[in-house]
Amino acid sequence: MTDRATTVLSGLDAIRSGLEDLYKDLHSHPELGFGEHRTAKKAADALRACGYDVTEGIGGTGVLGVLANGDGPVVMARADMDALPVREQTGLPYASEVTVTDRDGAEQPVMHACGHDVHVTCLTGCARLMAEAKDAWRGTFVALFQPSEENGDGAEAMVDDGLTSRSPTPDVVLAQHVLPLPAGYVGTRPGSFLSAADSLRITVHGRGAHGSMPQAAVDPVVMAAMIVVRLQTVVSRELAATTPAVLTVGSVHAGSGPNVIPDKAVIQLNVRTYDDASRSQVLDAIERIVTAECEASRAPKAPEIQRTSSFPPTVNDEAPTRRVADAFAAHFGDDAHTIDLQTASEDMSEIPKAFGVPFTYWGIGGIDPDRYAEAARNGTVAQDVPVNHSPTFAPVLQPTLDTGVSAMTVAALAWLGA
Ligand SMILES: [Zn+2]
Ligand SMILES: [Zn+2]
Repeated sequence: MTDRATTVLSGLDAIRSGLEDLYKDLHSHPELGFGEHRTAKKAADALRACGYDVTEGIGGTGVLGVLANGDGPVVMARADMDALPVREQTGLPYASEVTVTDRDGAEQPVMHACGHDVHVTCLTGCARLMAEAKDAWRGTFVALFQPSEENGDGAEAMVDDGLTSRSPTPDVVLAQHVLPLPAGYVGTRPGSFLSAADSLRITVHGRGAHGSMPQAAVDPVVMAAMIVVRLQTVVSRELAATTPAVLTVGSVHAGSGPNVIPDKAVIQLNVRTYDDASRSQVLDAIERIVTAECEASRAPKAPEIQRTSSFPPTVNDEAPTRRVADAFAAHFGDDAHTIDLQTASEDMSEIPKAFGVPFTYWGIGGIDPDRYAEAARNGTVAQDVPVNHSPTFAPVLQPTLDTGVSAMTVAALAWLGA
């Protein structure tokens, strides 16, 4: 018996090498959030070439492609397009050498270090296969290419730019992310999947003076150091061991020379939590500790705490996740798994939220399975397998791309009519 997924995916052999070329091309031409002009054009051209009704420029560079194929359910599949300010160190023949000039005039390296080039390639492939096999399904398939996921504002930008009135309302929204797991792996998870993420920029104020005269100063370097240490107790001493959370101070800046006590220090940190209660508990604790440490140090001015980015938690709806998990089990067999809770974050859920519809979001592997297995045998996965955002994150072409195309197609067909 041939099922519909097998019928639709029978077209994959003919487009595989073209998709691999597209992936390499996207990988060597990464673009930062809201700058995805070239990527968006590639996606839009590919959709148009196979008969989609295409709208470009939604929320900046977002692309919407609609393929109406008779009465039936509407499925929206979303891919993010943006890259990161990372200098690539993969050594791949198609590695990025791209740099851009940032707002301060500095040269920034750019790399697809999160694998969004995989997502764009896989959705492009899936969209094409759906168009070529219209006899195998009924309904409407919507391909959505979103800008600026890394900054947490691309989904919102598309929604603010009228996405819900420009697209048919989907019955479900589907999305996937390549992760540091063996290529070929697909993993679903009902309920909590990705954390909420909040980034804060904290400025603490001291009083500058000569390095030889601490009595004339209020030293913001010491103040910042005490804050950084004390913040380590929020997760370890204030949350229950059963409540997952991460608090990372990723940046501390103060001063410019060895013998000058500066007048301020800037701390940037990131918080990951999985529900609203722990999220506000951690954010409240940060404010309390920062304020108290500044007072303890005789700071002449209260600290400024500014939220620079904010991602919602990604909580998969149960029913659609079960439906996709069943379809994956039937198609992928032993490669279909239940995936662990992840500490990364996503803004994708803003899209289904705006439509008022459920969603499910899953992970696919991108690491050479032999390399992963060896690291697992040695107990060195954390050291030897590069993770997303690392300058050496380099998904293998296959079976990563085949798996991503297949997963999106199989999931979409779990809704679309026969
Ligand atoms: Zn990322
Ligand atoms: Zn990502």
